[in-house]
Amino acid sequence: MAATMHAAVVEEFGKPLAFHEWAIPVPGPGQILVKTEACGVCHTDLHAAHGDWPLKPTLPFIPGHEGIGRVAAVGAGVTLVKEGDRVGVPWLYSACGHCEHCLSAWETVCGEAEFGGYTKNGGFAEYILADPNYVAKIPDRLSPLEAAPLICAGITTYKGIKVADVRPGEWIAISGAGGLGHLAIQYAKVMGLQVCAIDIDDGKLEHATRLGADLVVNAKSEGAVEAVRQGTGGGAHGVLITAPSLVAFKQAIAMTRKRGTCVLVGLPPGEFPVPLFDVVANCITIRGSFVGTREDMAEALAFAAEGKVKADIETQPLSAINTVFDRLEHGNVPSRVVIDFGVGAA
Ligand code: NAD
Ligand code: ZN
Ligand code: ZN
Repeated sequence: MAATMHAAVVEEFGKPLAFHEWAIPVPGPGQILVKTEACGVCHTDLHAAHGDWPLKPTLPFIPGHEGIGRVAAVGAGVTLVKEGDRVGVPWLYSACGHCEHCLSAWETVCGEAEFGGYTKNGGFAEYILADPNYVAKIPDRLSPLEAAPLICAGITTYKGIKVADVRPGEWIAISGAGGLGHLAIQYAKVMGLQVCAIDIDDGKLEHATRLGADLVVNAKSEGAVEAVRQGTGGGAHGVLITAPSLVAFKQAIAMTRKRGTCVLVGLPPGEFPVPLFDVVANCITIRGSFVGTREDMAEALAFAAEGKVKADIETQPLSAINTVFDRLEHGNVPSRVVIDFGVGAA
């Protein structure tokens, strides 16, 4: 009989995850098996478990795309990584490697991309099967627990700031100061930007100030948009929306400076109205941004390895996943929860 592992499984959309004994996968040619040490819990896992998006995962599946662990076994022909290496298994699980997007270092939008914890089983399990060409190489200086949030929340916000086309000294407004946002604030500061943090929770805003935000605004307060426009001297040069709320999207466009860029990263289901006249007359760019490439990953991890960015984590066991999901849904996770598999970091 095949050996088994503990896994938290989505069996039905919108229902609590079920705890299963799942067969430990065997790496085939070109694949590796990772023994999970830690896995962050992203709001995307919640969207996945709810079946929020048009492209839905096939049930049943194991979520989790911030999984960090050591390579436990390698399949035939694998030379890029070896047993014992510490890697991260990210959202961009694999891509084709030869389409126009892959060839121009935009593998994130490859039409054949697979997604960890979504179209492929992810890190809410003791072992993860992975593609060695797309795993993140985790710097020695980072523990698995502190590395976990960086391989989605970190890379996504780092990339989002890059494509906001802002220069040192300019303003970036970060809407949503949760898992993604608390890292966005830190990346933005390291990149020499002035940061305005926006959230609906005063506790998160206080934390944003501790992390270096120059201005904080509660999105629910009257005149929130005006406060951002005034505080930034006419609107932020770049806006990064991480909030999983459609209201935040409409607000964010109005917070963007003339000729500025509003980067959409949060993924609440649905659509939001764009005030066409304002966007056209003010020459505003609205841009989507989806995680980041392998190069972005290496850069985002390097900032953390140098001690310039640090994820704030709360650790929980896998058995607590449903409570964590409930808290995340209601905005009651201060920054990032990371599932600790108790493997013991070496
Ligand atoms: P989170 O729950 O940790 O944080 C969300 C934050 O937004 C919370 O602090 C919450 O208080 C705040 N918020 C809620 N409503 C708001 C509003 N109206 N205005 C301002 N702030 C508001 O979630 P997370 O893990 O940071 O993920 C955020 C979103 O980003 C999710 O929709 C997730 O799916 C998406 N995401 C996208 C990518 C990508 O590649 N584009 C990658 C990762 C996550
Ligand atoms: Zn994520
Ligand atoms: Zn491709």
